[in-house]
Amino acid sequence: MENYAWGHHRRFNAYANYFKQKFGKRIQKLSIDAGFTCPNRDGTIARGGCTYCNNKAFSPSYCSTGISVQQQIEEGITFHKERYGADQFLAYFQSYTNTYTSLDKLKEVYEPALQHKDIVGIVIGTRPDCIDDEKLAYFQTLSQQKYLTIEYGIESTYDETLQRINRGHTFEQTKEAIEKTASYGLNVGGHLIVGLPGETREMMMDQVSVLNALPLTTIKFHQLQIIKDTVMARQYKENPDAFRLFEMKEYIDFIIDIVERLNPDFIIERFSAEAPPRFNLSKSWGVRSADLISMIEQRMKERHTFQGKFLNNQKKAMTQDEIKTIPAFDYFKDGDKEEKIRKLAPYIIGDNLKNPMNHGALIRLGSNIGAQKVFFTQNPDELSITKVKKTAGSSHTHMDFEFLEWEEIMKEIPEDYVWIAIETSSRAKMLYEQVLPEKCVFVVGNESYGLPKERLRQCHQHIYIPMPGNTKSMNVSHAATVVAFEWVRQQLL
Ligand code: SF4
Repeated sequence: MENYAWGHHRRFNAYANYFKQKFGKRIQKLSIDAGFTCPNRDGTIARGGCTYCNNKAFSPSYCSTGISVQQQIEEGITFHKERYGADQFLAYFQSYTNTYTSLDKLKEVYEPALQHKDIVGIVIGTRPDCIDDEKLAYFQTLSQQKYLTIEYGIESTYDETLQRINRGHTFEQTKEAIEKTASYGLNVGGHLIVGLPGETREMMMDQVSVLNALPLTTIKFHQLQIIKDTVMARQYKENPDAFRLFEMKEYIDFIIDIVERLNPDFIIERFSAEAPPRFNLSKSWGVRSADLISMIEQRMKERHTFQGKFLNNQKKAMTQDEIKTIPAFDYFKDGDKEEKIRKLAPYIIGDNLKNPMNHGALIRLGSNIGAQKVFFTQNPDELSITKVKKTAGSSHTHMDFEFLEWEEIMKEIPEDYVWIAIETSSRAKMLYEQVLPEKCVFVVGNESYGLPKERLRQCHQHIYIPMPGNTKSMNVSHAATVVAFEWVRQQLL
């Protein structure tokens, strides 16, 4: 099995594998509550805290301010040794704001924790406005002894969202803190909530490119849950329609959409979280986090996808000048250009087409653009193959085409190809504003019904062709031709 850029065959840069590679064995995280508070609760910045926050909802039973940090470490180690057989640990200072005190107090907390023989490192959760050079310089010295990460609650890259959930800081502050932390050579973690009120799917997706530009080491995603005894719980009860909570199946596909666009250098620690039922007002998904990861990986396999797929395979957007300098003629007089397109060799799929002339036209198109292969899902016995060949002309003799089930086609096409549905779906982007990847599969659907939802979900991009005339639909083979030649044009820029 082939390894991805992160050195193993899992389809995302997984936290567990990262630690296995780093320490040669599985590392268990144990949560510690060191008794800090939070400036967003004690009145320094605000009172009441972030609208979704109830620290009790994610603190394990061994983790309590009633006992010392050392005792929590001992109890946490005993618990995890018995339960999971783990023998090396990361102490995770998760509750509240774990840098919100003086440097001397921080030393009292972190140094004894790091001295424990079974603790291989610490992760310090905090807010972006509770860090400074003095503390970072101190953490830098600790990081020379053992593994150390500073983890920031990013939650959203939109200031209007941060304001709405009462975070008490801006995204600019988050960015500055992350950049400054990385400049000290420290590992930086980020936490993001998916589904915050006021954010559309498009907004959530768009923030991935903002995150990609940050010097993050690790990233965690959580779906929004409504936790009891929070401001958000009250808001939810008053106006549930203002919240759109993800169903599990929908979330799996959506988080994969995000991961496909995520910087492959980011180590993904989590995709989801499940608060205990006694705290959770939203509908439970009823699966453990590990099972959800397996489901996500299975779905990634079905979608032939992996972390950063679109980043590796995308050209930069064209500038207006570049668009103007496209030569009108002579594309292929230069043999290199023809060679380049031939090497990229796209695929074309006609799904459930009924008109044999469209099959023929797509075969011909495949031959025009040097496609690798043309696939059809239609049962060939229900078609006039004579008509197919007649429309294809001589191209049917040298263009490879085949009739196969959709699932079989998916297995035939290499994973680094990006599937493009030519369809006017709600997700569709306008052709002339879209940078088409080098390795493409062009997919067109039935003449009357287009592509069904299931197929659309399996395509990585959706493209529509703007039409200035009165008729706003186009013959499928014509549509495939327009998109395919726009792709050729972009590859030659
Ligand atoms: S989420 Fe963090 S920053 Fe917000 S109130 Fe809770 S402890 Fe404070």
